[in-house]
Amino acid sequence: MADYDAIVIGAGLGGLTTASLLAKNGFKTLVLEQSDIIGGCCSTYEANGYKFDVGASIVEIIHPMERFFELMGKKREDYIELVPCDPIYSFITPDGQRFSYPTDIDETTRVIESIAPEDVEGWKEFSGLGFEMIDKMMDAMMLSPMKTLPEAMRMVIKNPDAMRFLPLLMRTHQAVTRKYYKNPIIQSSVAFQSYFAGAPPEIGSGIFGFIALTEHMGIFYPRGGMISIPEGMRQAGEDHGLEVRTGQKVEKILVRDRSAQGVLLEDGTEITSKFVVSNVNAKVAYLKMVGPENLPRWAVKAIDSYRHSMPCPMIYVGMDTKPDLEAHHTVVTGSIDAMNKVWNDYYMRDLIPTTAMSLVCWPTEADPSLAPEGHHVLNFLCNAPAPYAPLGDNWDRMKDWYREEAIKSLEKHVLPGIRDHITYMEVSTPLDFERRLLSPQGSIYGLFSDMTSLALFRPHARSRAIRNLYLTGSSTHLGGGVPTTIASGIIASSYILKDRG
Ligand SMILES: Cc1cc2nc3c(=O)[nH]c(=O)nc-3n(C[C@H](O)[C@H](O)[C@H](O)COP(=O)(O)OP(=O)(O)OC[C@H]3O[C@@H](n4cnc5c(N)ncnc54)[C@H](O)[C@@H]3O)c2cc1C
Repeated sequence: MADYDAIVIGAGLGGLTTASLLAKNGFKTLVLEQSDIIGGCCSTYEANGYKFDVGASIVEIIHPMERFFELMGKKREDYIELVPCDPIYSFITPDGQRFSYPTDIDETTRVIESIAPEDVEGWKEFSGLGFEMIDKMMDAMMLSPMKTLPEAMRMVIKNPDAMRFLPLLMRTHQAVTRKYYKNPIIQSSVAFQSYFAGAPPEIGSGIFGFIALTEHMGIFYPRGGMISIPEGMRQAGEDHGLEVRTGQKVEKILVRDRSAQGVLLEDGTEITSKFVVSNVNAKVAYLKMVGPENLPRWAVKAIDSYRHSMPCPMIYVGMDTKPDLEAHHTVVTGSIDAMNKVWNDYYMRDLIPTTAMSLVCWPTEADPSLAPEGHHVLNFLCNAPAPYAPLGDNWDRMKDWYREEAIKSLEKHVLPGIRDHITYMEVSTPLDFERRLLSPQGSIYGLFSDMTSLALFRPHARSRAIRNLYLTGSSTHLGGGVPTTIASGIIASSYILKDRG
C-alpha cells in the first residue's frame, strides 16, 4: 500500500492549489518543498526588519484564487486579505513626463484623451472587445483543461464567442497594440505587459494585450506580503489534513513500467504514492526526475525542445524615507521598438541591456507593516531581462557592479537623491534565483511562452508519457503568473479527481 494518495513536488502556487484541492477531496496528500519557505516565486523574505517579496509583486485577475477558495468550501477573506492598489501604474516617459492609469475606466479614458486624443476611439474599441471577452470567456480561457486538440475544440464549441477572439491569439502583442493605438506613449503603456508573460511585444501573443485591461478589474496586494497568498492556501489545505514539509528536496520520481509510484528524496528516503504531481520546471521533472531512461523517445525529444523562460535580476531596497511615488508600480517606459531591442540586441546576445526602462514596486504603500515605522520597501527591476550567462562574465562577479548600476538608474530616472536613504539593498541575480528556487537558468516563468508554446502546445497537466504523473505551475498551460499558476493547479486537480476511478 502506498504511503500517500498524492505527493506534490514543490510548494509553489500551482503545487499548493492542487495539493489543497486533493486534500479537500479526501486524498492523503503530502507536499515536499526543498526551500525553508513556501511559495516559490510568490514568497517573501525578511532582512534588517524589512519584508521583501522574492518575485511576484502584485496579483491581478483574482478570479482563479476566488475559485480555489470556493472549491475548498471556504471564504478567501478568512485566509488572505487583499488590499486594492489604485492607481494601477504611474508612468515616466523617456522625456520625463509623468502620468497614471487609475482603475476606473472612465478616468483612464480621460488620461488617454489628455495625452493622445486620437487614441480614445481605439481604447474604447479594444476595451469594449476585451471586457466582453473577459465577461464571456474568463472561465473557459483560464480554467478549462487544454491538453488535446479535441479538448480545445470542445472549449470553442461550448463558447462560440471564442472564434471572435481567436485572431488576437494568432497575432502578436505588438500588432494588436499598433492596430488600436497610434501614439507611442500610449502604445508603450499597454505593450510592456508582454514581458509579464516573458516575451517582447513582437513575439508575445496578442492575447497578452488583455493584461492591460484586466488590470482595470483591480490589482491587489496581500497584506503581510506576497507570501500571504501561498500561506493562506496552505492553511486552507491543512484544514483538510494536508501535510507540507519544507527543506525536503526531491531527487527522483520513482517510475516503474511507465507509471509514477512516488519520490526519492535527496537524503535517500523513498516515499510512495498513487499519484505524483510536479510543480517544478517541466524539463527538470521529465529529464532529471523521471529520467530519459524511463521515457519514450518522442517524449525526450518533445520536452527537450522547450526553452526556459527569461531570467530577471531583482533588487530589494529598504530605506528610511517615504519615496516620492504615486502608485504601487512605477514604470519607466520606452517605445515598443526599444522593448524589442532589449530582447534582440542584448538578451539574445547574452548582454545586459543598458536602458532607462524599469519597474519600481512600492509594497509599503499598500502595507506599511512590511517596514519599521517611517521606513519603506522597494522591489526594483532594471536592465532586464538579463541573460543567465552574461558574455565573458559571471553574475557572482558582477553583482556589485550591477547593484551600483541599479542605484544610479533609480536615482537618475525615478527617485533623485535616494542613495542617501538606502539602509538595505540586495540583488537577486539569475544565479541566486537558480540556487534559491532550483529554477534552471534562473528562469522566472518556467518555460518560455510564445505563440508556439501556449495552451495545448505546452507540457500537459496529465502526463502523456508517464501514468499517474501530473504537472502544474508555470511550465504548463497558462504559463507564469499568480492567477495562471493557481488556475493550472485547479486544472491538474480536476484531472486527478477524474482519474482516481
Ligand atoms: C521576479 C519575478 C516577478 C514576478 N512578478 C509577478 C507579478 O507581479 N504578478 C504575477 O502574477 N506573477 C509574477 N511572477 C510570476 C509568478 O510569481 C510565478 O509564475 C508563480 O508564482 C509560479 O508558481 P509555480 O506554481 O510555477 O511555482 P514556483 O514558484 O516555480 O515554485 C516551485 C517550487 O518548487 C520548489 N522546488 C524546486 N525543485 C524542487 C525539488 N527538487 N524538490 C522540492 N521542491 C522543489 C521550489 O523551491 C519552489 O518553491 C513573477 C515571478 C518572478 C520570478
